[in-house]
Amino acid sequence: MICPRCGGEITVYMDRAVLRVDVEPRPMAELLYRCPACGQPSVSTVHSALLAQLLLVGVVPVALAEPRLDRADLPPAGPPFTREDVLSWHEQLDGVDTVAPWE
Ligand SMILES: [Zn+2]
Repeated sequence: MICPRCGGEITVYMDRAVLRVDVEPRPMAELLYRCPACGQPSVSTVHSALLAQLLLVGVVPVALAEPRLDRADLPPAGPPFTREDVLSWHEQLDGVDTVAPWE
């Protein structure tokens, strides 16, 4: 295998690497390891043939799903606020002297 960081040809020992696959079945995975040549953490994409070989010899992958935001962190439905919307809101607040959010 070629290290994408240093370009050195290396051997990755599976007891010192992590094979990450998606929860949704895909014909590729990522191999996370520390390069024995440059010592840096590295990631290589593993395609279908090598992935099948790794799984057949008993490598246990780590299955991770794509991270998702909490519902409260998602943008609301509808068009995004524009500068004109903010200016209009300020104009509507012109007649307001005090705001009591608990009322
Ligand atoms: Zn390297």
